[in-house]
Amino acid sequence: MNTLILADYQLNLDTSVYILLLVVFLAISCVAIFFLIRGIKRDRNRLIAEKYKIAQLDRIGLEDMLKHKYEIANEDTHFCVLLLQVHEVEKMKLSLGQKQVEKIFAVLKERLTRVIPRGSKICDYAPDMLAIYMEEDLDNIGLQTVATVCITECNKPVTLISRAKMTLAVNVGILAYNEFSPDAMSFVQNMELALVTAFKSGVNKYAIYSEELAETQTEAYRQYQEIRTAIAENQFVLYYQPIYDIAANRIMGYESLVRWQHPDLGLLTPDKFLPVMEQTGDINWIGVWAFDNMLAMQSKHIKEHPDHSNLIFSLNLSPKQLMWPHLAEEFRKIYKRYRIPAENICMEIVEFSIFDKVEEVSSNILKLSQMGFKIAIDDFGMEMSSLKLLEDRKFDWVKLDRSFIDKAQDDFLIGGVIETLIGYSKKNGFAVVAEGIEDEVTLNYLKGLGITYGQGYYYGRPQPPENYNL
Ligand code: C2E
Ligand code: MG
Ligand code: MG
Repeated sequence: MNTLILADYQLNLDTSVYILLLVVFLAISCVAIFFLIRGIKRDRNRLIAEKYKIAQLDRIGLEDMLKHKYEIANEDTHFCVLLLQVHEVEKMKLSLGQKQVEKIFAVLKERLTRVIPRGSKICDYAPDMLAIYMEEDLDNIGLQTVATVCITECNKPVTLISRAKMTLAVNVGILAYNEFSPDAMSFVQNMELALVTAFKSGVNKYAIYSEELAETQTEAYRQYQEIRTAIAENQFVLYYQPIYDIAANRIMGYESLVRWQHPDLGLLTPDKFLPVMEQTGDINWIGVWAFDNMLAMQSKHIKEHPDHSNLIFSLNLSPKQLMWPHLAEEFRKIYKRYRIPAENICMEIVEFSIFDKVEEVSSNILKLSQMGFKIAIDDFGMEMSSLKLLEDRKFDWVKLDRSFIDKAQDDFLIGGVIETLIGYSKKNGFAVVAEGIEDEVTLNYLKGLGITYGQGYYYGRPQPPENYNL
């Protein structure tokens, strides 16, 4: 009887266990298949890269590697780098989203990996650029072939998440290691110059850096060479413009503004040379130079006038400068050499609205802000006038653009926007700075609105530091 009951029980137990096991087995299989598919998708690029023996690098890695290659270079050293820029990536990010753009770049990398020599290294050079390092001894024909093949791969249609197809436009700059690039820094600059040249010759074109290219280059290249000389010969200077506390009628700080003391053309304003420097990468140099120069001056001034120790000195940073992954770290190294409270230094940033869209930019700004520097939104105007853009962002000043203030005096709607902004600033603890005050009428208008700080020709033009006893 006992056995029978036991057998019965055993039978019942077995069935339920079987069912349970089956369910568990099916569940595990589903999860396993899910992870397998995800894993395969994720590792696809890596696996392909491994198959073709292509390593991945970031920009810092590439620059460090080039430095190292130069250090150990001998007559058997051969390598070349191809820099590839995809057109309109910013626009794509806005219309298709960051994720889709990442997928597009993953597709491009996968395709390029299949056509570049084994043992090459592929690098995310900038949000819209890839660099390919190849340890090959390629002559001009070889460089042309690689450039053409890479462009062809990029031009093949890419299928978007929506299944629509898209064709990309690119440009390529390419160069081989030789005596025309005597160090890693000039190698990087020449590689960017080749890309700039390709860009100028049209969509889907490449340019190989060579001495002839350097010689036959047009105006931009002449300027580029001039900029090199200007750097070597210290032709860049910083001018300073006072920023006033309007109610107290007292200087609260100075904005530094770069000038080029050109030997033939005289004093040049930034619009004449910063765009060229942005294209050639020299903008990174000017950022580091200007910060160091400004802090040296500020530190000297504080020592000579301890009662001026709370003056705030500000520096302009363009989005292109903020895309440089080393910026915040380079600034940290420079800042450490001076004894200036971080809150007496301000970083003026234009195109604030692109902050969140480019990772390097937001990361640099976060680091600069964490170091304790003030952050100013420069050139705030109509296109930025939605207060929504200010929400959830950490900053200390909003600098109103001159044209915005000019319009505000005749247009009560714009005047209303400024009044709202001032109310908002009081609640949220930031200061509003009016730029471009040229006359007393404008000053009185701004005083009436209760604006805290002001700057403009009325108070003082940008001038060499000694003119302000700095
Ligand atoms: P910004 O930062 O908005 O600088 C203010 C510009 O307005 C300066 O032009 C200044 O000379 C000019 N300004 C000041 N007060 C008045 C005024 O009352 N009336 C008029 N009409 N103009 C006035 P500047 O020096 O030509 O600089 C132009 C822009 O170049 C700057 O605009 C800034 O965005 C950029 N910049 C200047 N220096 C640097 C720098 O070291 N690095 C970077 N990345 N950008 C810089
Ligand atoms: Mg500024
Ligand atoms: Mg401005």
